[in-house]
Amino acid sequence: MSIIKLHDKYFKTYLSEAKIATAIKSLAKQIESDCKNEIPLFIGILNGSFMFAADFIRQYKSDCEISFVKLASYQGTSSTGEIKQLVGINENLEGRTVVILEDIIDTGNTLQEIYAIFKDKKVKQLKIATLFFKPDVFKKELPIDYVGISIPDKFIVGYGLDYNGLGRNYKSIYQLTTQPKMKNIVLFGPPGAGKGTQAELLKNKYNLIHISTGDVFRYNIKNKTKLGMLAKSYMDKGDLVPDEVTIDMLKTEVGKNKDAKGFIFDGFPRTQSQAIALDKFLEEKGETISGMVALEVPENLLVERLLERGKTSGRPDDQDENKIRNRFNEYNTKTAVLKEFYQNQNKYFGVNGVGSIEEITQRLSEVIDTF
Ligand code: AMP
Repeated sequence: MSIIKLHDKYFKTYLSEAKIATAIKSLAKQIESDCKNEIPLFIGILNGSFMFAADFIRQYKSDCEISFVKLASYQGTSSTGEIKQLVGINENLEGRTVVILEDIIDTGNTLQEIYAIFKDKKVKQLKIATLFFKPDVFKKELPIDYVGISIPDKFIVGYGLDYNGLGRNYKSIYQLTTQPKMKNIVLFGPPGAGKGTQAELLKNKYNLIHISTGDVFRYNIKNKTKLGMLAKSYMDKGDLVPDEVTIDMLKTEVGKNKDAKGFIFDGFPRTQSQAIALDKFLEEKGETISGMVALEVPENLLVERLLERGKTSGRPDDQDENKIRNRFNEYNTKTAVLKEFYQNQNKYFGVNGVGSIEEITQRLSEVIDTF
């Protein structure tokens, strides 16, 4: 769950996939029990209802038919103004029980058009089922037979609903929110890719707080804290420290910087559950990850770099090729899935990590400037 951007607007999670699924199941059950001994014809109103209709009929266990229509407007004569027409009805509706599937009913204007259009179709009965309903703005005296979820008057997107064409493909429902104030960057890349070096430069350039979870762990080990003792056994082998420990520590570090303009997360998240926890944590603050910027460097070059660094860094995990390989293994099996995680949110930006420090900072900045 995370804040998403569609065109110029930001949206935060409002209704989960699970909540939507429960509402649809219950709608299907109610309609099924009211339509015993007949085969209803469901009519989905495009575009918004395509996802609802597909999920709805999968929950409808008795015989049924489905069709889709689009309410198209065309300009009538100057005296009639805009006229609406249903496009796509080919079935003979006479004597049928027709159930309209609407994604959302707010003012009821569309509903009114639908009632008007069906008036002369000689159906046996016309019923209306809507997944979302806004009782506060509904102004018509028209019956709505089945309501999935009543919601306040909020602009929502996702699950078939759009904002200027975008947002229909999201699985849950999002509502409008304010623009996040922070620039939050996940600096990503395998061990030795140069994240630490670049983070130092970027934090000054953009006035951000750099949090390297590896550094925080090493600081704790040096100071022999409880956290340090716990982390040491994992780190020395090149294994990941357990998620709960790491997530708690990260939250504490973020909490220490209440006035930050944003963060560079370096070495975090490293697993999918860390990424989910981070999204949730930021969303609660009205913030989000602006993007994952990934340094892409071939593995062999990395081994060389790390062994070289091990000569001076004193880090035990940099001095032994087996430990280094294990860290790559951890990266490839657990961390690399994060690329997909952020790609799915349209927030992954790969950057060539081979070149001089300045060149790479420049490449990273070009991406960060767009956030
Ligand atoms: P780094 O300095 O980022 O290479 O991290 C060094 C070591 O710290 C890793 O090999 C892990 O043992 C531990 N570590 C750092 N960040 C994380 C994290 N996000 N999750 C789990 N372990 C971590």
